[in-house]
Amino acid sequence: MDDAPENLSALRKLMVQQGYQTFVATSGERALKIARRVHPDLILLDVMMPGMDGFETCRQLKSHVATQGIPVIFMSARTETEDVVAGFDIGAVDYISKPLRMAEVCARVRTQLHIRSKSETQEEQAERLRTIVNNMAEGLLIIEADGRIQFTNPACDKYLGYQENELAGRAISELLNPLVAQEYLDYFERYAAAPETAHSHGTREVIIRHRNGSSVCMDLTLTPMYLRQPLFIGLLHDITHHKQSEDALQRAAMVDPLTKIANRRHFDTFLEKEWQRSMRSGLPLSLVVLDVDHFKLYNDTLGHPAGDACLQQVAQAIASHALRPTDLAARYGGEEFVLLFAETDGDSAYLLAESIRAHVESLQIPHPRSTTSAWLTVSIGVATIKPHQLDNTESLFVAADRAMYVAKEGGRNQVQATQTGSAAMEAVKALVMR
Ligand code: GH3
Ligand code: MG
Ligand code: MG
Repeated sequence: MDDAPENLSALRKLMVQQGYQTFVATSGERALKIARRVHPDLILLDVMMPGMDGFETCRQLKSHVATQGIPVIFMSARTETEDVVAGFDIGAVDYISKPLRMAEVCARVRTQLHIRSKSETQEEQAERLRTIVNNMAEGLLIIEADGRIQFTNPACDKYLGYQENELAGRAISELLNPLVAQEYLDYFERYAAAPETAHSHGTREVIIRHRNGSSVCMDLTLTPMYLRQPLFIGLLHDITHHKQSEDALQRAAMVDPLTKIANRRHFDTFLEKEWQRSMRSGLPLSLVVLDVDHFKLYNDTLGHPAGDACLQQVAQAIASHALRPTDLAARYGGEEFVLLFAETDGDSAYLLAESIRAHVESLQIPHPRSTTSAWLTVSIGVATIKPHQLDNTESLFVAADRAMYVAKEGGRNQVQATQTGSAAMEAVKALVMR
């Protein structure tokens, strides 16, 4: 705007010629109104105007959030140094002296618009980045070469239980186990000494200390970045869910789907471990093998689903007798179950087996066509061994199986055991040799 109408119209004509959309105001008040409404890219402002002068207009523009970002160029015949300085102090980006040389005005306007478009894209870029960093699901840390944390984003704070800015200034070693922390610090040091050899440290699974003292399992990706000083960008990816489903899968792989007790694979692993332990301790190991009597007949009479339900009941009865951490009950296949009683001699194992047999009978599961009992029954074989280097788990199974068949032949619904002590050892070996 300008106080002299002829100047104003010349200026306007020029701006329109240059292709700029132009608004004209004949007073400071009008200028403020237009600025708030159309939010122009640039304001050319005369200093001397009737009423509110240019400086005051500029002050008001600068005091309003809606208009403070708009660059202002003063135009004035007052070209004393203090006038020009005052103009810049108020917040102008340029000061053009009058009389105006139109080519110069054009050049200065062009320059300011160029600067403005550039700085805006920079601001936009920064804003975009801020939005990403604040909203990303990954935790982000910026770490200095000495292991000090410079910045964390909200996701990182949330994962680790910290307040905003609480982690800044702390050492990365506060979050990691000492060995892992040292490995990272060595890597930082190597890189800081020779940034040109920079390479990403890649992704690895780490256990990070939560603020409440618990541990969280996360993937940490570290990438070097040189910004005036060597820095490292750490990205934290929560893998607790993966871990949980991994654990669930692992558990599922150990459990028999029908009866929910241990499966054969789990039992074999468990037996192998207890076998080794027993070899060291010299304590006996007892194996119980259990088979449902006339089960084919049961299925044929009452149907397969009834058979399934029955197996579930029997499994629970058996498992309820495996009480110590060194005991394990498992479904070994079909209607055959096994129990391992580690650190248990033959006599104790026999008593346990007898109690299982009685338990199953007491369930009084009707078995209309059984020739053994009105109820469902089981036959059980027990074998006990003090493992030596030359023995293997197979021999224990063979012995228990044979004892179980003796129980079947003896009329079912009973327990048969190999003898205990050294006599048992001989008996087991004799059975294996047969
Ligand atoms: P014995 O008293 O000599 O052990 O006779 P049995 O009929 O129990 O022996 P056999 O081994 O001939 O039959 C076992 C039956 O168990 C045959 C099979 O149909 C049944 N069976 C195996 N697995 C399952 C299962 O998962 N569900 C059901 N319902 N039946 C099963
Ligand atoms: Mg069988
Ligand atoms: Mg059977």
